[in-house]
Amino acid sequence: MKLKQVLINIIGNAVKFTHEGGSVDLTVERTAQFDKKSTLRFTVSDTGIGISKEYLPHIFDSFSQEDSSATNKYGSSGLGLAITKSIIEMMNGNIEVRSEKGKGTTFTVAVTLMDSERRHDEINELVIDTNNMSVLVIDDDPVACEHAKLILEKIGIACEIAYSGFDAIEMVKLRHARQNPYNLILVDLKMPDMDGIETTREIRKIVGHESAIIIITAYRWDDVLDEAISAGVDSFIAKPLFANNIIEEFRSALHKKNSSKSAKPQTDLKGRHILLAEDVPINAEIMTMVLAMRELNVDHVENGRAAVSDF
Ligand code: ADP
Repeated sequence: MKLKQVLINIIGNAVKFTHEGGSVDLTVERTAQFDKKSTLRFTVSDTGIGISKEYLPHIFDSFSQEDSSATNKYGSSGLGLAITKSIIEMMNGNIEVRSEKGKGTTFTVAVTLMDSERRHDEINELVIDTNNMSVLVIDDDPVACEHAKLILEKIGIACEIAYSGFDAIEMVKLRHARQNPYNLILVDLKMPDMDGIETTREIRKIVGHESAIIIITAYRWDDVLDEAISAGVDSFIAKPLFANNIIEEFRSALHKKNSSKSAKPQTDLKGRHILLAEDVPINAEIMTMVLAMRELNVDHVENGRAAVSDF
């Protein structure tokens, strides 16, 4: 709860002091692990107004603000960072700030916490090698394509673009022929001529199940869900796209594929005892035969009363 308060304060400031068109990034890293504890480093960087060299040493003082008009302009009190710093110190952590006037600010918070008892989600353990991942984005809207490309390339994922289902099919065929299929195909749902579902159906004919296909849409998808799934869609993502949503959905699509591929191991029931209550003799006979094939021992009785009484 306290950590959340710290991050909300720092990220809130970053958003507040960054003008439209700028960006705010949060990264979390585990920098050390020992004795069931982990040190986490949170880095919040913005491309905002920055902080002057003169003010920087006072940034954590109570009621301090670089620009007192900020009280009115940004609705600030100058208390947030003083409180933030004291919370972090109570957690034996530390907070640092680097900034350049007009360029932006980076706050780094490091805290050492007990590892959670909670087990990792199996899905999250699927490691995705983003460097070797290739993505095809299919969308008739060039701005949407550009946006997808931008956010994917920012996290190191190579991305190609097709402005229609027809173009996409040609690109998929080419990759398939070169045995270098796209790992992930993002398809816009609503496109003229050939929509996302039809495009998926055609792509599936070429690639089978080797690529994950995710529909991206600004609309509701519940009314097309069944049709999309039977066309071979693995998942859906709402626009605007965020890199981590794409990775999460990709990961869960892979997980689904992997778990359906590895057939569940047959449980060995050999030698177990089964009590069968069945009044129709022929049914009982068939059941006994089927169970005996798995080397199960069957006691047959004719009804429930007999089943619960000692025999
Ligand atoms: P408040 O935001 O309520 O004024 P804080 O203690 O959180 O109080 O911040 C104190 C001052 O530090 C802010 O008024 C601002 O001048 C400066 N500041 C904090 N974060 C940033 C940032 N990301 N970019 C620029 N200035 C910042």
